[in-house]
Amino acid sequence: MRKQIVAGNWKMNNDLAQTESLITALKAQTKTSNAEVMVAPTYTNLFQAFQALKESDIEVIAQNMHFAENGAYTGEISASMLKSVGVKTVILGHSERREYFGETDAILTKKVDAALANGLRTIFCFGEVLADRKSGNHEAVVESQIKNALFHLEASAFKNIVLAYEPVWAIGTGETASPEQAQDMHAFIRQTLSNKYGVDVANSVSILYGGSVKPNNAQEIFGKPDVDGGLIGGAALNADDFFAIVNAF
Ligand code: 13P
Repeated sequence: MRKQIVAGNWKMNNDLAQTESLITALKAQTKTSNAEVMVAPTYTNLFQAFQALKESDIEVIAQNMHFAENGAYTGEISASMLKSVGVKTVILGHSERREYFGETDAILTKKVDAALANGLRTIFCFGEVLADRKSGNHEAVVESQIKNALFHLEASAFKNIVLAYEPVWAIGTGETASPEQAQDMHAFIRQTLSNKYGVDVANSVSILYGGSVKPNNAQEIFGKPDVDGGLIGGAALNADDFFAIVNAF
């Protein structure tokens, strides 16, 4: 059975005090599903969050990292730095990183390699923009994003990879992919994996959906057979909403 995962991507929200109060509210919640729960604070709050949540079953993960081990990369953070504060999982390839920070498939290939070489589980994000969806090009775009950044890997690497399909037109817009659109794309992604690595690998990889997941739509989206959880932005900033989504399985 594939892992079910609900990960909250806090993006560039919450200073230290706000992070502490959100964590306090999260710790007061009760998990009734089997989903693995993760939250991704900003870098400056990672250590504090890790300390505050280390006795809990909420994993603290990172939103991004650089591919180099160290060196003259002002403003960047390496895999080993993340590991040194307890982080075991990193989000890579988020559409905001691609759009605002120029992250290309080639850069993401290096980041994925660096994360895996350091033993970090990678939540690899991808997804089409609205124009691709409208022109019917969405599957080709997603296929190329996955192939370009991941298909140089050995099959065994996929033990440490989670995929996150986030259609850009659904992020922060209040517009979600319909459960059917999500299912269709997730099935396509699994088929793409299967074509390259075989059905066993394809069936073992968790594929998350992200894009305006809320308490009122999570159950229907997570109910689809190829949707193994969610990557949650806005709704992850409220502990009640986030746990309503965690418990939607
Ligand atoms: P929203 O849930 O705010 O649409 O964000 C989704 C997302 O980008 C998670 O990484």
